[in-house]
Amino acid sequence: MTIPADENQIQHQHQIQENLDAAAELIAEADAVLVCSGAGIGIDSGLPDFRGDNGFWNAYPALGTRGISFVEIANPQAFRQHPRLAWGFYGHRLQLYRQVQPHLGFSHLLRLAKALPLGMRHFTSNVDGQFQKAGFASEHVVECHGSIHYLQCSRQCGNPAWPATGFEPEIDEAQCLLLSELPVCPVCGGLARPNILMFGDWDFEGDRYQQAQDRLLTWFARSQRAIVIEIGAGTAIPSARRFGAALDVPLIRINPGEPGVARSRDVSIATGAQNALTRLVELLKIT
Ligand SMILES: [Zn+2]
Repeated sequence: MTIPADENQIQHQHQIQENLDAAAELIAEADAVLVCSGAGIGIDSGLPDFRGDNGFWNAYPALGTRGISFVEIANPQAFRQHPRLAWGFYGHRLQLYRQVQPHLGFSHLLRLAKALPLGMRHFTSNVDGQFQKAGFASEHVVECHGSIHYLQCSRQCGNPAWPATGFEPEIDEAQCLLLSELPVCPVCGGLARPNILMFGDWDFEGDRYQQAQDRLLTWFARSQRAIVIEIGAGTAIPSARRFGAALDVPLIRINPGEPGVARSRDVSIATGAQNALTRLVELLKIT
């Protein structure tokens, strides 16, 4: 007599272990690792990933009450029409990301980076600054959708993006409204907004991220045996997934929900970031 559910589970765990072994072999041979990440890498730190309207509205019930979706609030139009509501949402996220501690997987990555001849770089669609908080140098992190820790002018007055340091938003969480003063551009006095690429956003000030990407590609060209480790990057917002897959090097995909890989040389690990990275550094004997 068999219990299929259990057998499936055992088979699944066996497959994960086999793929972790294959991934450890790829990493051991690499001279450089590019980590491409999306929202899934932050889940083990307790960060929401806003998947679906229900996931988003559970995190921001005041927006649910008004029927405002993530796409509608993460939008320059929202700053023009309802700046206190838009800043209620982004101000809350700024505080959340300032407070959150990166999970153990980040320190495992940092130790792996130090063991590699050419080190590690990051390409992330996350705006939360968790890699820098975990100890990675800012110039080694490409934030392709910008950073919540920077502000930009909503009038495009020519002032480059500036750090949000010193902006301490007071939020009425029940209403999702900014109570303190709206932040302004120090040059022209126009409304400041997060330096984040939003939906339908033609005003995004992306120079610093483009420069970081140019530096990353120069570093990548120096490597002989680079690999990509993609972590928690889904197909819904595919920027990080596409960037990693477009580079013609072996790929390790860590993703419990969308683990499939197209090429036979690539390795898929269908589990969460912290679990996968903990087991990988154990296999590699990186202490
Ligand atoms: Zn300005």
